[in-house]
Amino acid sequence: MTTTIGKIFDLTVKKYPNKQAIYDVRKNVRYTYKEWSEQVNRLANALLKEGVQKGDRVSTFMFNTEELGTTFFACAKIGAIFNPINFRLTPEEVAYILSDATPKVVLFEKALEPVISSIANRFDKTTFWFIDDEAPTYTASYQEKLAASSSRDVKADVKETDLYAFIYTSGTTGRPKGVMHTHRNMVDQSVFCIASGKLNAEDVGLVTAPMFHCAELHCAFLPRIHVGASNVILHQFNPQSILQLIEQEKISKFFAAPTMWNMLLQEDLSKYDLSSLQLGLYGAAPMAPSLVHALHDNLGISLVQAYGMTEMGPAITFLSETDQLRKAGSAGQAALSHDIRVVRTREDGPSDPDDVVPVGETGEIIVQGPCMMVGYFNREDATTKALYKGWYHSGDIGYLDDEGYLYVNDRVDDMIISGGENIYPREVEDLLHAHPGVLDVAVVGQPDDRWGETVSAFVVKKDPNVSEEELDNHCKNSNQLANYKRPRKYIFCDALPRNASGKIMKFVLRKQLEELFTP
Ligand code: ATP
Ligand code: MG
Repeated sequence: MTTTIGKIFDLTVKKYPNKQAIYDVRKNVRYTYKEWSEQVNRLANALLKEGVQKGDRVSTFMFNTEELGTTFFACAKIGAIFNPINFRLTPEEVAYILSDATPKVVLFEKALEPVISSIANRFDKTTFWFIDDEAPTYTASYQEKLAASSSRDVKADVKETDLYAFIYTSGTTGRPKGVMHTHRNMVDQSVFCIASGKLNAEDVGLVTAPMFHCAELHCAFLPRIHVGASNVILHQFNPQSILQLIEQEKISKFFAAPTMWNMLLQEDLSKYDLSSLQLGLYGAAPMAPSLVHALHDNLGISLVQAYGMTEMGPAITFLSETDQLRKAGSAGQAALSHDIRVVRTREDGPSDPDDVVPVGETGEIIVQGPCMMVGYFNREDATTKALYKGWYHSGDIGYLDDEGYLYVNDRVDDMIISGGENIYPREVEDLLHAHPGVLDVAVVGQPDDRWGETVSAFVVKKDPNVSEEELDNHCKNSNQLANYKRPRKYIFCDALPRNASGKIMKFVLRKQLEELFTP
């Protein structure tokens, strides 16, 4: 048997035809698995009619919608390569991805029409399908395409080793790269996430993190469908809607990035009945231990952390519910079948997988596992470097403790070197996060003639009275932070620049520092 994403979808439909598969909040539409499968088949047949063949790319550019999920499975069933594009990108960034991935069809929604209309005429080999009413003239209507197509099942020759998707990385450190994954990679990834999130068919999951990103798509949405659970799809992140939906739909589990959890905690939780909630998954960016504790105390739910990267599926470690408080600050243990090493970094090229550092010492995190990407599309040099000697080189710095738990310090590119000493911003961020007057914080290095770099902290206040002096005293009095790690500058701001996956774009902050402090 060949295990493809289309196959696992069909197996769930067969097992749970009359169970609710999807509730799309935006359109107020509910589908059972059988009804949804008819939509998926209609789209698969419509794409075939359009001339989409195995290996052709099909992109989506939308917020969280049923149609994104429908495209995901329709592509899988006909062997087309699914390419979900980040809805936060600018027209030029979207144009870059379209010229790289060269999709045959791009499906998009009304709210993002200004972006597509400004670049569509550059792509004459691509057709644009509009998923909402009143399709603009340069587009085809998705609804009409589906109405004109059969809901009969499609039988295509798709193998588990075939490519299933190009998922672009978040572009936190440079231009997004198109990560190529196979069907088998993702079915395996789904199994690990089912096990770690203890998912079952009774679960009702909320889709609130962006579906285009692998954290939601592969670690939450796909695994839920794999086991026959229900999915409530929230169009865009909104703390109040989340809390209302938990109460109304009896949500049992969902994934959110740390910044989203932090925003939820700012709401009046006592107004809602959240008793259905069992487990929260978090990841994609570091979560300060103080926030883990606050979630535990205020929501009283189990938490599971996933750490990983698009290239690995993404999850490569999980911090289980029982380890949350005992190992707060850690990213957990290697996922099933994954081998993780911490190796010495090198200035002159990729680190050597055999140059392993002793337990407790920091170095680059490298990993091997069954969900490792095939490579980056069109980026042979970057692929060779990233997969040097068969290990994925993460570019993240961390260490393993004597129980095999991984601690992720930071990205190599974000590490600050001051007076010859390495400073991991995360350590300073975690300490500042623990101050009750701080809502959000990011620490970056600023070039300095004397020290090489000095530490600067961008802070979003929770308490308007919090001052630089008070935060500096908090660092001094903590006895946790050596003097050279203390921020020399505090910049108070209204919000931190985050990308749609919830990651702080530190290159934006470094540029701001340069503009603020260059005479
Ligand atoms: P690009 O590679 O284009 O610069 P990116 O690395 O942000 O973008 P992703 O693959 O979405 O793209 O993110 C992976 C990175 O996110 C990891 O390398 C790590 O730095 C960070 N990350 C993910 N999960 C966690 C976590 N649980 N804790 C800390 N950092 C995390
Ligand atoms: Mg990356």
